[in-house]
Amino acid sequence: MLLPCSVLTLWISTALPLVSASPSPHVLPRQQPAPVNSSLAVCSPLLTNLGSETVITPFDQGFREAANNAWNLYNTLFSPMCIIHPQSAEDVSRVMRAIYESGGVKYAVQAGGHTAMREWDTTDNGVLISFADMYNVSYNPSRETISLQPGVRWGEAIAYLEPLGVTPLGGRLPDVGTGLLLGGGLNYLSARHGFSVDSLVAADVVLVDGRLVTANATNEYSDLFKALKGGANRFGIVTRYEVKAIHVGTDEEKMMIGGSVVYDNSSTEALLRATANYVDNVDDPNASILVIIGATLSNNTVAPVNVITFFYNGTSLPPDTDNPYHEFLSLPYLISAIGSYSYAEANNVLGSGGDRANGQIFGASAFGSTEWDISQGLAKDKEESFEQYMKAYRAFNRFLEKAKGTPKPATPGGTPTPTPTIAPGYPFPPPQFPIFPTYPAPKPTYTNLPPYPAPPSPAPTRPPVPAPPIPPKPSSGSTTSRPTSTSTGMPKPTSNSPPHHRSNPSATTVGPKPPPIPTYTFKPSPTWSFPSYPSAPLPTYPTPSTTPRPLPPPSISFVDDPAADGISAALLAFTPVQKSQIEAGRRAGGNLMDPPLTNYALVQFHVTMPEWLGIVPKRVVEGRKEVLSELVASKGLPLYMNECDAEQNVFETYGQYEFMKEVYRKYDPTGINVRFMKGPPGIPVPPRKT
Ligand SMILES: Cc1cc2nc3c(=O)[nH]c(=O)nc-3n(C[C@H](O)[C@H](O)[C@H](O)COP(=O)(O)OP(=O)(O)OC[C@H]3O[C@@H](n4cnc5c(N)ncnc54)[C@H](O)[C@@H]3O)c2cc1C
Repeated sequence: MLLPCSVLTLWISTALPLVSASPSPHVLPRQQPAPVNSSLAVCSPLLTNLGSETVITPFDQGFREAANNAWNLYNTLFSPMCIIHPQSAEDVSRVMRAIYESGGVKYAVQAGGHTAMREWDTTDNGVLISFADMYNVSYNPSRETISLQPGVRWGEAIAYLEPLGVTPLGGRLPDVGTGLLLGGGLNYLSARHGFSVDSLVAADVVLVDGRLVTANATNEYSDLFKALKGGANRFGIVTRYEVKAIHVGTDEEKMMIGGSVVYDNSSTEALLRATANYVDNVDDPNASILVIIGATLSNNTVAPVNVITFFYNGTSLPPDTDNPYHEFLSLPYLISAIGSYSYAEANNVLGSGGDRANGQIFGASAFGSTEWDISQGLAKDKEESFEQYMKAYRAFNRFLEKAKGTPKPATPGGTPTPTPTIAPGYPFPPPQFPIFPTYPAPKPTYTNLPPYPAPPSPAPTRPPVPAPPIPPKPSSGSTTSRPTSTSTGMPKPTSNSPPHHRSNPSATTVGPKPPPIPTYTFKPSPTWSFPSYPSAPLPTYPTPSTTPRPLPPPSISFVDDPAADGISAALLAFTPVQKSQIEAGRRAGGNLMDPPLTNYALVQFHVTMPEWLGIVPKRVVEGRKEVLSELVASKGLPLYMNECDAEQNVFETYGQYEFMKEVYRKYDPTGINVRFMKGPPGIPVPPRKT
């Protein structure tokens, strides 16, 4: 549908002030918005050619919801010139060709919207390609692969395939999307299968000039295929991922054992020691652990809370000290929820991760094992290698002290503001990774989105799948009882996350509504008992309010007010990477990270700002910089893209950095991507032709 001329004029006049207004000295300047005219020159013909179902403008219903969909509040502050909701790879191809032929305009791609990096999945005055309408999943038992359209979220894909006993490898929270693959991907089965993207079998990719190619490990695009494994959004737009189907059993089979354990602040050093020991000693392809040293802040009170989440790929844990988690489990804890889980349940243990209301800031580091640090001359013994954990923790505590601010002055006649205290720990707000929201949190409500497609009848019946052993694939006998292939539209998201997909009237493969994501029911392990430390009673929480979602703040501003609210939560998270994970990646043909064959820990520093707050106190900005400068990565280890700060040069730390730059030059010689799309730094911008 062509827009009437008056609307177009309005479109231009609305857009112009966004770029021409001179920012106040306290407002973070937007980064070089695209010239309005050039973006319009791309958006207008696309609207004509693809139609108003696919190309939406600021005047269309649903535009604001789509522009605000990003998880990080700071990524909802941008206003694209148009938002494209492609219905097919060909649509993406047409969009990229239009951008390419225009000589380049700012553009961005959004899948699950979970990047914390500012402007990596949105754009000001440019073209935003959002995969909200492309979210199909299909399983091909004869190839033992799963095809994913980029708009699906891991929780949806896992829930749909769970009755078939297979899963793709994604992340550890259901709301996160497929962009995770392009940064690597850490999951509960990484120790056996590698980074999630190591399970990639083929990818359909739209190159910067609009060509649509299929890359795999052996065809003419094998270099591109490898570059996608860690290359983030630099190498093209993926319109379909084909990944290995991993057999994890069904909901009833509960093929994993583990869960989460909450500790108070008194155990922090012991937890850090247990983490360093785990990194030094554990190389078990069935083991995975995530260690979170966290704190929530409310006004001027800091409440530390530590959580580990571990899953063992099997129905029982190894005995005694062969149990990779024995050191963690012998520490006094507050709450323990250990038991048998299905893979889908394990992926829900940390909550949905779907709440959208807070500014989020990440930063990444990597700590070597003692063996690695000694081999590199970075430490002379175990104690010196461990010191980097303690250094990080001390810096983290200094940050919390700095961020919490001074008490607000008491109102005349009112109750005096309490002196700042460090709360004794749990119970305080419930532990929720990674946001630790302050309760009660307003749940975003989206009012303008159309309803989900109604499930057709009859309801799907669960296929009779016998218990598949893990890890080897089930015998051919059991495979034959599965359906020959399956393809579907997506289920409704979990109740605590907003709806993500528009209804997709043109999709032809919409199928039965899969079962909802299972809720966790505790089932103690028959083979494992835990030391009986006193555990705190489970607190009850007020029901979250259903306050309508407010508009995001117009911009981020920095203030120097010591009484201004600081942050809402912060954490240091440690994910050990084992040699077995690295070997799995190498067996699959290698990835760009290409870590040396050694155990190490990925370290994430994550700060969550108070809800709906566009103000960043200077002390938070400065404190955060100080922490990042103290989180010195062990030399020779790759940083993790999905946990980094937008300014960290992660590519430079990759083992295959030189190869990566070469592949980039081949597929984007004029540098359209690095010139016009925000993403990881580290790829040189080719000189412009005169
Ligand atoms: C709550 C939470 C939990 C997390 N848990 C984990 C975890 O367990 N394991 C882990 O590894 N990571 C985890 N992450 C990090 C997460 O993997 C990254 O943030 C990832 O980039 C999110 O992908 P997305 O599709 O949701 O996000 P998006 O913001 O949509 O995309 C992320 C980036 O990928 C690009 N991109 C997306 N799709 C495409 C495409 N089809 N073609 C080209 N470029 C594309 C985007 O442009 C953007 O730069 C978590 C993050 C959060 C916020």
